[in-house]
Amino acid sequence: MTAKRIDGKAAAADVRASAGRAAAFFRASTGRPVGLATVLVGEDPASEVYIRSKRVACGEAAMESFHYALPADTSEADLLGLVARLNADPAVDGILVQLPLPSHMDAARVIDAINPDKDVDGFHVVNAGRLAVGDPAALVPCTPLGCLHLLKAELGDLSGKHAVVIGRSNIVGKPMAMLLLAESCTVTIAHSRTRDLPALAREADILVAAVGRPEMVRGEWVKPGATVIDVGINRVAGAEPRKTRLVGDVAYSGAAEVAGAITPVPGGVGPMTIAMLLRNTVVAAHRRSGLPAPEGL
Ligand code: NDP
Repeated sequence: MTAKRIDGKAAAADVRASAGRAAAFFRASTGRPVGLATVLVGEDPASEVYIRSKRVACGEAAMESFHYALPADTSEADLLGLVARLNADPAVDGILVQLPLPSHMDAARVIDAINPDKDVDGFHVVNAGRLAVGDPAALVPCTPLGCLHLLKAELGDLSGKHAVVIGRSNIVGKPMAMLLLAESCTVTIAHSRTRDLPALAREADILVAAVGRPEMVRGEWVKPGATVIDVGINRVAGAEPRKTRLVGDVAYSGAAEVAGAITPVPGGVGPMTIAMLLRNTVVAAHRRSGLPAPEGL
């Protein structure tokens, strides 16, 4: 069997287009654009690339982005002061503080200073709690939300399926498990202490790998016909000297021989993350303005 390749780029383009339409409706209804504030502390090149792509995506969806680039030696108090101003700014619907922060800052304290209703990354403990108790006001972390979108587009109703999520981070693994539970999957969360992970993975109708270990999940770990979602983004040495390439946490070619459908890396989950950031921002804007939830999002 050769698995269907799930096209995350196409799915992300659809979500971005829907977010753009909702942003246009918001502007027509309120007389102002949806606003996203992005905050970058220091000069980490990967973070600069991420922030630039997020701002470009915002512009394409006719949302306004306000960018704050702060020097690496900014004090935590100054950053908290900026977050407080953004919380109070009516033109700002979403606040994104790019992680990682410099080591002299406590990232949890900074994230928890963001107004949960503007926390479009969905990392605030209030949003984690809302997700856990099934409160629809939750803003959900973008990457697992994107994974769920791909799974529902592929499989429709997920209820009763056994989902194995490998990884228990607050950003991906745990919220992914909560989302799948809310869809009435039977969910198993695996991690570095899990015993006989290959056998456990082989029981999964839905296998989500969010580990950060290049190509760890092998074809033999996959149940025939399963749907495999590869969240991993790992840069490894390429075939030519000094060249690198991106691989996921799943060994794609082996897994694709067994799975029913699988996301590639790149071009699978990755593009969904920014699309879901736009989705969360436009949804946050609608909620804050008392407008009904935008359609299709
Ligand atoms: P973390 O490092 O925070 O978490 C990794 C998880 O994997 C941990 O729970 C860890 O277990 C588990 N793990 C590590 N080694 C093993 C092992 N040998 N067997 C089983 N479990 C193991 O990573 P993130 O959740 O932040 O990210 C995971 C991956 O997803 C990374 O490749 C990252 O680059 C990628 N990513 C991609 C995004 C996208 O937009 N596509 C966005 C965010 C992340 P334990 O808790 O026991 O240590």
